Amino acid sequence: MRIVLVGPPGAGKGTQAAYLAKNLGIPHISTGDLFRANISQGTPLGVEAQSYMKAGQLVPDSVTIGMAEDRMRQADAEGGFLLDGFPRNVAQAEALDAFLKADGIELDAVLDLEVPEDEVVKRIAGRRICRNDSAHVFHVTYNAPKTEGVCDACGGELYQRDDDTEETVRKRLAVYHTETEPIIDYYRAQNLVATISALGKVDEVTTKAMDALK
Ligand code: ADP
Ligand code: ADP
Ligand code: ADP
Repeated sequence: MRIVLVGPPGAGKGTQAAYLAKNLGIPHISTGDLFRANISQGTPLGVEAQSYMKAGQLVPDSVTIGMAEDRMRQADAEGGFLLDGFPRNVAQAEALDAFLKADGIELDAVLDLEVPEDEVVKRIAGRRICRNDSAHVFHVTYNAPKTEGVCDACGGELYQRDDDTEETVRKRLAVYHTETEPIIDYYRAQNLVATISALGKVDEVTTKAMDALK
């Protein structure tokens, strides 16, 4: 199965992707996580991406598309992928189509997570992520770890992303509306879009998502 997850920053894409990828038995590919791993390892790609991410802007397509394609090639050998955070503009969606076409494969669905803006701002403000594993995502009130600052799953240190500030969140939301939302219409034209509300508890959203993918 090949699925694209879309939704504003803080919608719960990473949280849902971890469960969906497990349920569906396909790898979860997050371009944001790939960039953050490159930043923490100090690679040239990380150095290039960092200033854009900190400013809440998209990393240029020239860097992003090649990185995503490398990871998709690996994943497809494992039965497909769940894309989280890619594509994020129409040029990336077109590049993804060309990539799929060259391999004679297709997307199965685009899952669109809808959340009101005041809720995503609250979700992002309280987000904490494990240093050991970016799939371990917490929230200081909605999904609090048993011990403050410590990951329940692995004991790793929880941290706040340096782009999760109010100012950068507003910029990321603006970028989402102008650059990312148009891909929803792009995929509607291909009849691939399933829209669900991402309000409610994490497991309720997972159930709705699994139903939408049937
Ligand atoms: P969120 O889950 O909060 O939306 P991500 O982890 O997906 O955040 O992305 C964080 C940042 O990484 C983005 O603001 C952007 O700078 C960069 N980024 C991630 N994916 C892409 C992409 N496909 N194209 C360009 N930039 C990206
Ligand atoms: P995204 O990848 O779309 O940016 P995340 O999965 O990182 O979003 O979630 C953003 C924050 O919201 C995290 O702190 C996460 O724990 C929290 N969160 C995720 N799903 C829900 C939910 N259904 N209700 C409340 N908070 C949630
Ligand atoms: P409860 O009644 O169990 O406190 P609600 O269903 O009233 O929870 O949820 C209030 C909000 O808190 C929800 O909209 C959801 O965003 C968030 N929330 C509740 N439980 C969780 C959870 N386990 N993980 C993340 N967010 C949650």
